[in-house]
Amino acid sequence: MLQEFFRGFIKIHILYHAAKGSVYGLEMAAELRRHGYENISPGTLYPALHRLEGTGYLAVERRLDAGRWRKYYTLTPKGKEALQQIRVKLRELADEVLAL
Ligand SMILES: [Zn+2]
Repeated sequence: MLQEFFRGFIKIHILYHAAKGSVYGLEMAAELRRHGYENISPGTLYPALHRLEGTGYLAVERRLDAGRWRKYYTLTPKGKEALQQIRVKLRELADEVLAL
């Protein structure tokens, strides 16, 4: 059950970082570990990236990076709109749930 909630949080992290600049899978995995998602598996991260791309929230571009092809993801205008709506709901939720 917890994993189900965390999968949602992970998608929000991805949208946020893709809004700040392009991200690729391994980089995003490291970032999520930094946030405490220590055992994020490729089986969680990559499907999330693909789903966000399939929904039109992320655009993908293949780039050669130090001899390696990587898929870089950036936020689309549709993704930006979604992130904006998520922010509103997140603030509402945090204001209630985190209130002391
Ligand atoms: Zn982050």
